[in-house]
Amino acid sequence: MPKSRIRRAAMAVVIALAPGPVLAAPLVVATTGMAGDLVATIGGDCIDAEVLMGPGVDPHLYQATASDVRAFQKAELIVYNGFGLEGQLADVLAGLDRHKATLAVAEAAARAGPIEALDGEAGYATDPHLWMQPALWSQAVPAVEAALARLAPDCLEPMQRRAAAYRQQLQALDRWMAASLATIPSGQRVLLTAHDAFGYLSQGYGLEVRGVQGISTQAEPSVAAIQSVADLIAQRNIPAVFIETTINPRTVEAVIEAARARGTDVEVGGSLYGDALGQPGTLADTLVGMLIHNTRVMTDALGGQVIPLPEALAPWQQRREEVAP
Ligand SMILES: [Zn+2]
Repeated sequence: MPKSRIRRAAMAVVIALAPGPVLAAPLVVATTGMAGDLVATIGGDCIDAEVLMGPGVDPHLYQATASDVRAFQKAELIVYNGFGLEGQLADVLAGLDRHKATLAVAEAAARAGPIEALDGEAGYATDPHLWMQPALWSQAVPAVEAALARLAPDCLEPMQRRAAAYRQQLQALDRWMAASLATIPSGQRVLLTAHDAFGYLSQGYGLEVRGVQGISTQAEPSVAAIQSVADLIAQRNIPAVFIETTINPRTVEAVIEAARARGTDVEVGGSLYGDALGQPGTLADTLVGMLIHNTRVMTDALGGQVIPLPEALAPWQQRREEVAP
């Protein structure tokens, strides 16, 4: 399982003349890239952030390896998504020292309000994919800031500054996503994907979303589920379906075949990042970049007009021009 160690100076944040990089920065282990992004962005040089699940890894199927367990044992703080996203994680955490510090960022975001988490289905009491709506995800920032400040109290001031800047960037991203997605014509505001990672897009931006597989990816999609999505495509004349980087594209290919059998030609609208960040060196290697990518792909494929990124997201505009799409 690929791992990445991130010591990142947060993008577009003015860092005060704090003491230089701390020699032995506290180790914080994050499960998903999205949780790791909160830690790395807010922690900056003050924290040694390690992410266990790399690009393309499906967190619903997560099983800790021996080296993951060693990382958890060494970590001064474990940051995970929560709401049951990470497969077998609860069993692993239960086996660790009960004084081990942990933080479930999605659960912290939902508790903080004002935006509430959505109910789940099929074994998930709550839909765990909160990062899809950045205004909601940004509600986790104070909890992460507080947890990191306990580990590196000397860094309180720069971490507060980075946290405030990140929150503003996530809120600017939310407004830009809402404005871009609002340009999709009313008859085409349907997002069809391999699994239900996108419920928060529906909540935040008024898109109708439908996954072939439901919230979990643990079972293979049924023929009935594929047929039912193909019926919807044929009835509503939906122009595009989307593949996801963490899900086998066969699911979506089967939907396209079934729609063709009903005489409707539907295209792959592009590849969306659902439950993992993109490869290092792509725009999607941060949460903000991942959501910019997704919004552009969805808006283009469904007949909308992507609007220019706001000034607050200028670092990502620059990155778009520098890196592979
Ligand atoms: Zn998922």
